[in-house]
Amino acid sequence: MKNPTHRTEPLVVHRGAPRVAVIGAGISGLSCARELAVRGYDPVVFEASERTGGRCSSLATRVGCFDDGAQVITGTTRLAAYTAPQPGRLAASHVWSMPTAPVDVERFSRAGVHDEDDTDDPALALIGTVGVPSMRAMADTIAKPLQVRLNTPIHRAQRRHTNWVLTGASGDIDEDFQALVLAVPAPRALPLAKASPGLSQSLRGVHYGHRWVLLLGTERPVHLPSYRTFESGPIERIAAMHSKPGRASTVPQRWFVEASERWSMDHAAADAETVADLLLANFQAHAGRPVAPCFLLAHHWAHAFSDAPEPQAETLRYWWDDALLIGVCGDSVVPSRVDQVHRSGALLAARLAESLVARRWRSASVAAPAAKTATHSRTRSILLGTA
Ligand SMILES: Cc1cc2nc3c(=O)[nH]c(=O)nc-3n(C[C@H](O)[C@H](O)[C@H](O)COP(=O)(O)OP(=O)(O)OC[C@H]3O[C@@H](n4cnc5c(N)ncnc54)[C@H](O)[C@@H]3O)c2cc1C
Repeated sequence: MKNPTHRTEPLVVHRGAPRVAVIGAGISGLSCARELAVRGYDPVVFEASERTGGRCSSLATRVGCFDDGAQVITGTTRLAAYTAPQPGRLAASHVWSMPTAPVDVERFSRAGVHDEDDTDDPALALIGTVGVPSMRAMADTIAKPLQVRLNTPIHRAQRRHTNWVLTGASGDIDEDFQALVLAVPAPRALPLAKASPGLSQSLRGVHYGHRWVLLLGTERPVHLPSYRTFESGPIERIAAMHSKPGRASTVPQRWFVEASERWSMDHAAADAETVADLLLANFQAHAGRPVAPCFLLAHHWAHAFSDAPEPQAETLRYWWDDALLIGVCGDSVVPSRVDQVHRSGALLAARLAESLVARRWRSASVAAPAAKTATHSRTRSILLGTA
């Protein structure tokens, strides 16, 4: 099938409920769609690529899985509750901590071997929350009960009468949507927001920096902390995949190496092989000895981090054009962090639902007869994992 609908769990379809098109299956779009579905609306998520997650991304390689985008969630978020374990399932998120004393870092990083007789266990410093078994697992878990159309880039969105009509790679999509959510980086959202002068102007004001990252596999253990950020120099951050919970902790070790914004800018035109060699040399300098890589892959993120400032009010965490029923969430509006974009998507869903109710476009759970409503909303709640 060309454009498979990625839905692996049963879904109660709210027939007759207002339909909302959500463009982008990153964390912001999926969080928005999930909150809409919980409220009884009928969201459909359109995703250009073949997988969910966007920059909350993970890559399977011959040496194991790498998180090649977001590494860790550091802010307070309800996202972990979305992905809480269900009976018989692995949790899709877990806390990640590391030993604090350098000597213990070495002991723990030795191929993940931990001496059972050790009684002087080191203090653990909390790094944050990570997806298990990969960062992308969180997106996959949120997406499960939703209607997500993968491999479906949206090129145009037009307002016709009271509906939105979308155009994909093979022409108009023969479905009407009452509302539209843009959950993609500003440069991708701009062509889709043409109908709204206000949103277009706001989107034009957002700028993104790009970023080089290196995925590095090493047969011999490298004795560096599991997670470290650097104030200066070409490398801004290193993260050990093999020390994250729910991953193989054995060799080959798998390191994520993130170049600084400045270095990435200076090497914008460089090819991936050159970048990989340069970042490897810098990683070796931190390791204090030569590192023989068994896997080396440099990846360039074109829209990595936005310059959106921290919003001063909850209502500033999304943009909403109430006349046209089109909104923007994600890091066009809030800083580029998983917890921030999650909140942005969830808050936009709440605002959008308010507008639909005001127009008497009730959700299925509101519009349905009393007895049916109870069944619908209860079933939906169970499927979506909310109490
Ligand atoms: C290298 C790197 C490291 C990071 N590290 C961290 C970290 O440690 N902690 C943290 O909190 N954050 C981190 N971030 C930031 C975080 O990953 C992002 O802010 C967040 O994932 C953005 O989510 P989003 O849903 O707003 O957008 P995205 O994740 O970009 O999702 C947008 C989705 O829309 C799709 N799309 C785009 N255009 C179209 C279209 N026309 N039609 C259909 N689909 C389309 C894209 O394919 C994508 O899947 C990092 C980012 C990068 C790049």
